[in-house]
Amino acid sequence: AETLANTTFGTEQFTAEQKEYLRDFFAKVAESRPLPFVGHTAAGLITNDRSSGLANQAEPAEETYFGAPVSDLCREERWKFEQNPLDLWDKLLEHANENKVPAVEDVFRFKFHGLFYVAPAQDSFMLRMRVPGGVIKSHQLRGLAELASLYGAGRAEMTTRSNFQLREFQPKDIVRVLNKVQSLGMSSRGSGADNVRNITASPLAGIDPCELYDVAPLAEALNAYIYNSRDMYGLPRKFNVAFDGGGNISVVADTNDIGFLAVEVGEGQDVPAGIYFRVLLCGITGHKQFASDCGVLLRPDQTVAVAAAMIRVFAENGDRTDRKKARLKYLVDTWGVERFLAETEKRLAFPLIHLAAESCKPRKPINRQGHIGVHPQSQKGMNYIGVVVPVGRVTAEQMVTLARVAEHFGTGELRLTVWQNALVPNVADANVDAAVEAIRAAGLNIEVGGVLGGTVACTGNKGCKYAASDTKSHAVELANFLDERFRILQPVNLHVTGCSHSCAQHYIGDIGLMGVKVNGEEGYQVNIGGGSDQDQGIGRELIPAIRFADLPAAMEGLFAAYTEQRGAEESFLEF
Ligand code: SF4
Repeated sequence: AETLANTTFGTEQFTAEQKEYLRDFFAKVAESRPLPFVGHTAAGLITNDRSSGLANQAEPAEETYFGAPVSDLCREERWKFEQNPLDLWDKLLEHANENKVPAVEDVFRFKFHGLFYVAPAQDSFMLRMRVPGGVIKSHQLRGLAELASLYGAGRAEMTTRSNFQLREFQPKDIVRVLNKVQSLGMSSRGSGADNVRNITASPLAGIDPCELYDVAPLAEALNAYIYNSRDMYGLPRKFNVAFDGGGNISVVADTNDIGFLAVEVGEGQDVPAGIYFRVLLCGITGHKQFASDCGVLLRPDQTVAVAAAMIRVFAENGDRTDRKKARLKYLVDTWGVERFLAETEKRLAFPLIHLAAESCKPRKPINRQGHIGVHPQSQKGMNYIGVVVPVGRVTAEQMVTLARVAEHFGTGELRLTVWQNALVPNVADANVDAAVEAIRAAGLNIEVGGVLGGTVACTGNKGCKYAASDTKSHAVELANFLDERFRILQPVNLHVTGCSHSCAQHYIGDIGLMGVKVNGEEGYQVNIGGGSDQDQGIGRELIPAIRFADLPAAMEGLFAAYTEQRGAEESFLEF
């Protein structure tokens, strides 16, 4: 191990601490099995192959999994220990051939492939895709529409992670569906269970007149790194990463486990003036916590390596015995940020730069309705069109129309946002009217009231067994009700989530609703005053439980008071 470490890493570019880590790692590997690739990548990462750890699980003598005795593992970790969910293809074929539904442990394992068996809400599979950075090509959108029509429900949902979900696939079709996904140059791997979820990025990357940095290539690079690294799957819990280029539309980076935020550093600091990234850690808004700045400044070309190193630290050290304490937040709470950063640094071939957030220029304001309507791009004479897709529900026909609009009037590309809608970029001034007309002809719109335009909702009880209420339908009904009665100048974000898992992040909405049962009827807990980014705040409970039937009238009263009292620029935060 010593020789190997010296041979491979014998140069002076590594610190004594890094060499010690490597020596230790090599020694452990030498004890267990032949050495997989270990190297210093161009991205500046010291990698190791944690699939060796997964392989170790097969050796009965070990009886540990990522350092935890197997007997202590929680149920899901034991399932991972018993069979690596990445190695399921034969089982998927078996289920397809026999058109059979999976057993409970395989329901969990199939999520590693983006396949969610969603009984009892629906006796079928939901497929969750990966759309890194929310960038999708028109042929991919057509392909998803075709999948939805041929094998599914003929519709799809845009999600709050700039992603697509397709529903109602029968077991017999799951392999066909995954093969088709692959043929589109797309993947659904890792979109569910304990994996790095779809990487989000500012949806205007590369076309935003206000952005500091084009983050789309970073999201794509991290997605590719994960896709090609087996040790990036099977984490202690799910993991979210976002890249914010500092521009017009929010990507709610502060709600992610890691949020990279582009900032400008002026003259007179310890680093050359320029564009860098701040690193925000441990956002988990369902637990009422935003990601906070960890004091580190990165060059853009360091972000992917740092994300991968942090994910590895989490994979190797996160809690695998108690799922309630398995998210990154709990590791960092236990260790402290300094130790987490020190462990991260051991896996990097460059030192981290520490600079206080106050030494960077503040983020530029976000346009809360920049994801809707026609807006100029940084490229002269070009525009993007933000299409309203209420709570993300879109039919296969509408998907085909959007693909056609992008091909005829743009460059065949579309962007998805965390606000559950789509943008058609690169539309020349002369083509804007025709493009908007085509969008309207498909039953979609580019402008709506101040509430519906900022409304997001999770799946709800039409497709998720945890939901207490029909979130999507209620969200649209309530938003339309309020938009009909009030002229809201300052957009209002309405977040409607079906249970405490908070997939639609109800704590960060101006109005946040969480589904609860009220005397057996569908209802909600009402929170107000939440926000993200520049308006960061955790909503506070206004009504513990109210039937949906009574909610519009209650909200009407609240809005009446709001519109009477608000100042020109106030949001619900000022309540
Ligand atoms: Fe399902 Fe709850 Fe997530 Fe809504 S918030 S999709 S109900 S788990």
